[in-house]
Amino acid sequence: TGSVTIRELATALGIAETEIIKKLFFKGMAVSITQTLDIPTASLVAEELGVTVQTTEEAPAATKVTVMVGEEDIENLQRRPPVVTIMGHVDHGKTTLLDAIRETKVAQGEAGGITQHIGAYHVDVDHDGQTQQVVFLDTPGHEAFTAMRARGARVTDIAILVVAADDGVQPQTVEAISHAKAAEVPIVVAINKIDKPGAQPDRVKQELTDRGLQPEEWGGDTIMVPVSAIQKENLDTLLEMILLVAEVEDLHANPDRPARGTVIEANLDKTRGPVATLLVQNGTLRVGDTLVAGSVFCKVRAMIDDRGARVEAAGPSFAVEVLGLNEVPAAGDEFEVFESEKEARSTANKRADEQRQSRLQQVMASRRVTLNSLS
Ligand code: GDP
Ligand code: MG
Repeated sequence: TGSVTIRELATALGIAETEIIKKLFFKGMAVSITQTLDIPTASLVAEELGVTVQTTEEAPAATKVTVMVGEEDIENLQRRPPVVTIMGHVDHGKTTLLDAIRETKVAQGEAGGITQHIGAYHVDVDHDGQTQQVVFLDTPGHEAFTAMRARGARVTDIAILVVAADDGVQPQTVEAISHAKAAEVPIVVAINKIDKPGAQPDRVKQELTDRGLQPEEWGGDTIMVPVSAIQKENLDTLLEMILLVAEVEDLHANPDRPARGTVIEANLDKTRGPVATLLVQNGTLRVGDTLVAGSVFCKVRAMIDDRGARVEAAGPSFAVEVLGLNEVPAAGDEFEVFESEKEARSTANKRADEQRQSRLQQVMASRRVTLNSLS
């Protein structure tokens, strides 16, 4: 039971009313724009757009059409900042570029902001008259990618590929391109070191074109920005381009749910015990939350941001250092907040057991091989 007007359905689906009429027409149903659709008919249209229609049982008179994106109601989704990784060949200027972006932005931003190494940091960028945030991961690009991709975690929305203008495409450049492509992460190219006398940006563009990345100005669809990390030249353009790509990617999350995400870095601190930087990918993480990271239990005691400030909550795309873990998780492990502390503990224990089991099996298997080859 229940029904929905064509206008309501169009609004919920974000398409024109005429589109709905057209779709139904091709299914052999002639409807007029003022007509009301029953739920099975509305579902037929919605399904074509990959959307599930749910009706609320409690109020059949006012049927609510819920548009789901993945497992989230579209109404709960909000824009989130892009998470960016810098990749490229050794010595092409990844570290220098990251530092340069951080320095310019911290200088403009909060006074006395002493950055703290937590493996990620946030910068504010003016874009279209608004201040928007970009999150950079500063774990070495390749390691982050390989480790996290092996675990099936996708943590990066955009990759900046740094190519030195005086050195061109090199083996790790090629490797970075294939990693990003495999993960379906869009690439923005920073042609670096344009201040150098031997810089040949056009040669870089040609070499990248040969590798399947064609610059926009040559009719391709890859954004390439010439920069000098040392002289802090053109960094604003690079950041704007990142926001442009982010807009196209349409990045959303639901801040009003328990957090989940990925461990970016983790280590055992002599004085503070196990610490980990967690990237929140959906929901909001709060002090006092109970979570499981990989097989590690954690009751969040404190959270620290990239400026060394204590924070109470971290929303989507934010990375914070977390205290309160009972062991050190692995970078690339996924984490999830549990409503029940008891359930969190038993989940962590179960996973730890499974890990011990599989390690044991590996040891046994390698033993067997050795014994076989001896006999
Ligand atoms: P990474 O290995 O990719 O992290 O490269 P680094 O950031 O460590 O830079 C390697 C070398 O290139 C260092 O000596 C930097 O000072 C230098 N470098 C980086 N960016 C620039 C640039 O824009 N211009 C010039 N002239 N040198 C740069
Ligand atoms: Mg470096």
